[in-house]
Amino acid sequence: MALPIVSESDSGLAIGSTCGTTSAGHSYQGSEGEGQLKEKDAQTLENQGYALVGRHSAVKVCGWTKNMIRGKGGCYKLTFYGIMSNQCMQMTTSISCANRCTFCWRGYKAPVSKEWKWGVDDPQFIIDESLKAHHKFLTGFGGSPTANPFMYKKSLDVKHVALSLTGEPITYPRMNEICDNFHRQGISTFLVTNAQYPEAIENLNLVTQLYLSIDAPNKELLKEVDRPLFSDYWERMIASLDALSKKKYRTCIRLTAIKGLNMVHPELYAEHILRGDADFVEVKAYMFVGESRQRLQMENMPLHSEVVDWAKEILQYLPEYEWLAEHEPSRVVCFAKKKWNRHTWIDFPKFHELVESGEDFDRWDYQRTDVTPEDTMYTARNETDGGC
Ligand code: SF4
Repeated sequence: MALPIVSESDSGLAIGSTCGTTSAGHSYQGSEGEGQLKEKDAQTLENQGYALVGRHSAVKVCGWTKNMIRGKGGCYKLTFYGIMSNQCMQMTTSISCANRCTFCWRGYKAPVSKEWKWGVDDPQFIIDESLKAHHKFLTGFGGSPTANPFMYKKSLDVKHVALSLTGEPITYPRMNEICDNFHRQGISTFLVTNAQYPEAIENLNLVTQLYLSIDAPNKELLKEVDRPLFSDYWERMIASLDALSKKKYRTCIRLTAIKGLNMVHPELYAEHILRGDADFVEVKAYMFVGESRQRLQMENMPLHSEVVDWAKEILQYLPEYEWLAEHEPSRVVCFAKKKWNRHTWIDFPKFHELVESGEDFDRWDYQRTDVTPEDTMYTARNETDGGC
């Protein structure tokens, strides 16, 4: 289903026309068009630990990346899929989004728009500048007594990119090119989208794993939880599930559990999961962080045990799925389709080999053969911000 991206912006951050430089030292320059965040708004983002890249991308080092460099264990995506957090870069190709989710750590002044309104930066420019910014953030770990030298050395070789962070990365018009470039550089890709751009999902050629966020069981609650800009937000979500179900590569549906708000109607969540036909389902607690604290209360953040109980309720309606693993520090659990037979780790070298070969391949061709551990020796017990 192709839904038009209509022209209407409600951006709280104006787009200017002069080129500038972020405090991370990266020039606001791209390949065509002009535009940048107002200096004071860019400064706000940088004060929050972001490095702005070009006109519409941003990087922020994940707490789990730092954690693993300190030798204290990795994020839940290590537990579930084998990603090394110290070699992961967290970024977005679009700081703008078509929702104002109540649970988002972004403030309501963050840019929102239904359509792409600024120049389109070159994919390789974004990759090169993002990697520079990422490494610059981590420089302090070199020689630091708190860092594990082996883990730090490894971090210099980024092997994975989490395209999530903030905004809606899939709206970047050259998404396929940037993913291709990442893969060619030996960097695997996880892309998270909020289910408002089904056409972009249909047009997406290849990512290592694609995430769809489903934030509510019904139309009324989706409006309350996500505060979408699109009036046909529900139809877009359903069309996104249909687009997800057609993908040949790995897919995951993410449910963010907000106590007292969207932890209702498990049977309806199960219907959405079945419609999207996702390989994996992650049920993750809302984290009481950032600007979301202005909109929600600490009590809205469920305990890990409450996430577990809630996930089990949903799982009852999903006979094709089984419990895979959990990660208490991030308050997240994962279930997987039974046909994965608990082998959910990714064979990254194989993935890149397949990309290089140019041959047609699918999700089963880059599956590792060893069984996913229920917990790993790398997994930390100390909390960070929950992870992406
Ligand atoms: S939580 Fe996400 S961004 Fe952080 S290390 Fe894990 S995969 Fe990377």
